[in-house]
Amino acid sequence: MEDVEHPGWCDLAHCTATVPKPGYRAGETGYHRSAPIKLEHVPSVAEIVFDAELNPLIAHLSRACPPWEPVTFLNLGTLAEPQLVSLSTAHTRATMGQLGELLALAGADGPT
Ligand SMILES: [Zn+2]
Repeated sequence: MEDVEHPGWCDLAHCTATVPKPGYRAGETGYHRSAPIKLEHVPSVAEIVFDAELNPLIAHLSRACPPWEPVTFLNLGTLAEPQLVSLSTAHTRATMGQLGELLALAGADGPT
């Protein structure tokens, strides 16, 4: 049987990847997933209040297995809803670039 090739960032404890099976259906081949990280500098988004222990804001990478496109996504969310925001790495970089430009306008003013 063919082995699954995992990307370097994949954490086998979170990975659900399997090799394509004949007659597969969407989602049956699973996802590569990184270990989640906690983002501790965002207190809330809309009505969701984050708490480092009880309800942390977490981020993880994911990539669907073949035959789906090998696009890696950055996901932000909670433990209950880990994909509240899901962007391809290309869209994440473009968005981070826009935020970086906006942040540069603020310079180094004010306390951190
Ligand atoms: Zn994997």
